[in-house]
Amino acid sequence: MDLDFSTAEDAFRAEARAWLTAHVPGTPLPSLETEEGFAAHRDWERELFADRWSVVSWPEEYGGRSASVLQWLIFEEEYYAAGAPGRVSQNGINLLAPTLFEHGTDEQRARVLPSMASGEVIWAQAWSEPESGSDLASLRSTAERTEGGWLLNGQKTWSSRAAFADRAFG
Ligand SMILES: Cc1cc2nc3c(=O)[nH]c(=O)nc-3n(C[C@H](O)[C@H](O)[C@H](O)COP(=O)(O)OP(=O)(O)OC[C@H]3O[C@@H](n4cnc5c(N)ncnc54)[C@H](O)[C@@H]3O)c2cc1C
Repeated sequence: MDLDFSTAEDAFRAEARAWLTAHVPGTPLPSLETEEGFAAHRDWERELFADRWSVVSWPEEYGGRSASVLQWLIFEEEYYAAGAPGRVSQNGINLLAPTLFEHGTDEQRARVLPSMASGEVIWAQAWSEPESGSDLASLRSTAERTEGGWLLNGQKTWSSRAAFADRAFG
């Protein structure tokens, strides 16, 4: 088995490193748990997306680079080595998006993924409830079909950055 990186993978690393060296802010952004910091991190997401670095493993049609798993790992290594900002879009790109790729419809993917990749829409995760943490089968929130929409009933907790996020999935 050859465990060395290929020439293409080394080139990918060099490209990622050069971009990060040129773009990572010199001073840390304010905490993404604050309104100001959340906005600054959203701007960073836009900057990543503009040069197709926000979701490297996604297909190109959704703003990615169709990167292989190894290329994705290389990017993550370079990202953390560069001290780049935390990803304010992490709930969406790491949790909701993989679910949509696996189980969503083409319509859902086309509607949700591009604005998620660009940081235009930041998603919160709204699973936990006051009486339901790890045991998601005991969730009590309901969504009832009404004329022209849905009527949501329930209470959520632990929803990181939901105060600033645009949308939530549960
Ligand atoms: C910093 C932080 C940020 C978070 N952000 C979010 C968020 O953005 N959105 C969101 O939805 N949630 C979020 N959570 C919630 C988190 O993902 C967990 O769901 C939650 O902390 C677990 O719930 P709980 O504390 O009530 O523990 P419980 O669910 O009551 O679990 C207590 C213990 O019992 C164990 N346990 C639970 N059920 C079973 C079972 N059926 N069988 C055996 N053992 C079991 C658990 O492993 C644990 O050790 C966040 C949590 C933290 C700490």
